[in-house]
Amino acid sequence: MSYQLSETSSGVPFIRCLHCGRASFNRNDIEHRYCGNCHVFHDPLGATTEIVASECPACGATHTAATSAIGDTEAPKANDLSVCIKCGNWNVFDDDLRLRAITESEIAALPDVMFQELSRASKLISKIHERRKIK
Ligand SMILES: [Zn+2]
Ligand SMILES: [Zn+2]
Repeated sequence: MSYQLSETSSGVPFIRCLHCGRASFNRNDIEHRYCGNCHVFHDPLGATTEIVASECPACGATHTAATSAIGDTEAPKANDLSVCIKCGNWNVFDDDLRLRAITESEIAALPDVMFQELSRASKLISKIHERRKIK
């Protein structure tokens, strides 16, 4: 993971480059995962790791691997969020690293940047499926 998305205590989102340590509040930098100091785009996808075979509570698809959408290289941990690649539903890894549906209060507690990140992933997934339907 070469960058970190976070927000200030007053809720202003920023991106921090883990190469040079510079934080940027620029919307474009955040959107495109760009560091203006290093002049690099960060790799948006991290490692794909194997997970305990687990069914999506929304669509029933069995997942045996997870790809980090925030450039993480480690396997998912308990309470990590996951977007189902099949239906776009938001799930959470429980203590046994099995998927369960996210709750309303968990969604409400998400930092804005995380919420946007998940929405982006869901939109992307539904777009992919729309294209498949057209074909
Ligand atoms: Zn940098
Ligand atoms: Zn699903």
